[in-house]
Amino acid sequence: MPVTGLPPYDDQNIFARILRGEIPSKKVYEDDWALAFHDIAPQAPIHILVIPKGPYCSFADFSALASPDEIAGFMRAVGKIARDLELEAPGYRILANMGQHGGQEVPHFHVHLFGGRPLGRMIPTA
Ligand code: AMP
Repeated sequence: MPVTGLPPYDDQNIFARILRGEIPSKKVYEDDWALAFHDIAPQAPIHILVIPKGPYCSFADFSALASPDEIAGFMRAVGKIARDLELEAPGYRILANMGQHGGQEVPHFHVHLFGGRPLGRMIPTA
């Protein structure tokens, strides 16, 4: 049970199914800790999703319950993917939505990696 009291991990969520190879994805990177693939509805010229291999619903339970190796492995993977895509010189944005106010749709923790153009304001005004 997540420490936050949120619902338990749903192993039928779409990213869990991608991890198990039940649904295809356009994979860009994989190691022991993370899988990365292109977002199906890109919001920037480069829009990659990076997900941990473990069953974490969101940043809330990942940050509270994942092991130091899982957290370090995941964060290093995000940095490596950005580096491999040559995004460090122009710059990029990473973003994790959490819960309803965060706009999270898929209940498997993921980081969005955006790049390829100037990305504008951090949070657009309505
Ligand atoms: P979030 O709102 O942070 O939960 O973001 C979920 C993201 O997953 C959205 O940007 C979707 O476009 C993306 N998405 C949903 N289904 C797929 C899929 N099958 N393959 C790749 N990306 C997906």
